[in-house]
Amino acid sequence: MTDLKLFNSLTRSLETFEPVHPGEARVYTCGPTVYNYPHVGNMRAYVFADVLGRTLSWKGYKLTHVINITDVGHLTDDADAGEDKMEKMAAEKAQSIWDIAKHYTEAYWADVKALNIRGPMNKGVPDAANWSIATDYIEDMIDFAKAIAPEHCYELDSGLYFDVSTVADYGKLARAVTDEGEGRIDTVEGKRNAADFAIWRKTPPGEKRQMEWDSPWGKGAPGWHLECSVMGGKLLGFPFDIHTGGIDHREIHHPNEIAQNQAFCECGSLDDAACSGARIWMHNNFLVERSGKMSKSAGEFLRLQLLVDKGYHPLAYRMMCLQAHYRSELEFSWEGLQAALTRLKRIVKAVEQLRREARPALAIGPPNTPIGSLIFGFDESISDDLNTSVALTALERAIADKRDEKSVKFAGLLKMDTVLGFGLDKLTRADLRIRPKDAQITEAEIEDALDRRQAARAEKDFATSDAIRDELAAKGVEAMDGDPLGWEWKL
Ligand code: AMP
Ligand code: ZN
Repeated sequence: MTDLKLFNSLTRSLETFEPVHPGEARVYTCGPTVYNYPHVGNMRAYVFADVLGRTLSWKGYKLTHVINITDVGHLTDDADAGEDKMEKMAAEKAQSIWDIAKHYTEAYWADVKALNIRGPMNKGVPDAANWSIATDYIEDMIDFAKAIAPEHCYELDSGLYFDVSTVADYGKLARAVTDEGEGRIDTVEGKRNAADFAIWRKTPPGEKRQMEWDSPWGKGAPGWHLECSVMGGKLLGFPFDIHTGGIDHREIHHPNEIAQNQAFCECGSLDDAACSGARIWMHNNFLVERSGKMSKSAGEFLRLQLLVDKGYHPLAYRMMCLQAHYRSELEFSWEGLQAALTRLKRIVKAVEQLRREARPALAIGPPNTPIGSLIFGFDESISDDLNTSVALTALERAIADKRDEKSVKFAGLLKMDTVLGFGLDKLTRADLRIRPKDAQITEAEIEDALDRRQAARAEKDFATSDAIRDELAAKGVEAMDGDPLGWEWKL
């Protein structure tokens, strides 16, 4: 197998993956803040982390992958300005924070499942119980803060603050650090450096927060950056292999996590990447959308469910993500999503046929067979900093290749799919055909009309056949002829 090369945002270079613990890969992915539904941009971050995890499994590493749920501490501004996102939403909805967190955590998990994102893994085994919920680690957060406070923190009326001048190379990860802290930090009276941040936020006197805990610094709640340091360190051990998140986290959240980790590990310069707590920091670029529908404050924002309501299978969105490199910005458009769906349908159509014809004995040919060399090419592309767009073409080349015996070819395709994650062992074209929410016609009615149309065509009664096609078209159904596998339609 080819060496796995990954882009490390900390060193800004492509590095060969060398595990900290031989044979193992330990990965931490910053999870969602569960104050609202995730938008599809958020889900790009988890599709990326999923492909990374699947690639590490493909390479034979025993994967431990932590994905957290942030149910406390994330303010409306990534620095110390604004309100707690969870408290704010709970007040708006007049519900308890715990109910808000439960509802949106479950919504996130539903999207994870729909996109075939493997959940957290402990020692290579996915398990729903592995999700790490921030509020389950409050005691550990207090212990961590206590350990670093004497040398690295100072107390103000509003909380316990981390003094970024106490660690080496603060902000190395961020692209644009200035003395102003990118103008990003609000003016908390008494802060020593603009970039200092709260690791514990005290409940203001006379107030009662829904989520607050006793601590040596008074009643309050942990800072968001503290959570990830604590869960990463506790569950994976410092230093672990890879830390991931969206590109926005490269600027504030991750530099702050790194500073805490350095303090906790009593580690110096970030020239030794392991001092940051993780050897490799990876960031996915953003999904962007011109009309602003990505904003959760927009009325009809781009959630996975909106895509489904409009008749797009979630895996079409997975395909859309995989077509782009994770480090490139990806523009969302409905046309792009349609093209991704069509591409996926073509793949599924070919695989469905093979599935019918292949014998169950699954064995992949050795490297000198056609599928063996195609798998080698596939491995090369994902080893090149997870180049999924090239890997997808390798899959399609394998589909088009007629040289191998069908069972061998089928086995090879399924092997590639363990990384791409479409579930090609089961997925059918019928699964991909989703009725838009506002459709005027049921699937049974469509199937019935198509049966009548097929019968008419068999009798060469083209007038009837055309009339049925027009009737369907009036209801938004496009009958697609010329499909050798049967009759297809599209709403
Ligand atoms: P949040 O729930 O706000 O903490 O975000 C969850 C994840 O989504 C984080 O890793 C963010 O960096 C990432 N993210 C936010 N917006 C986008 C976007 N438009 N495209 C890709 N990733 C995003
Ligand atoms: Zn985080």
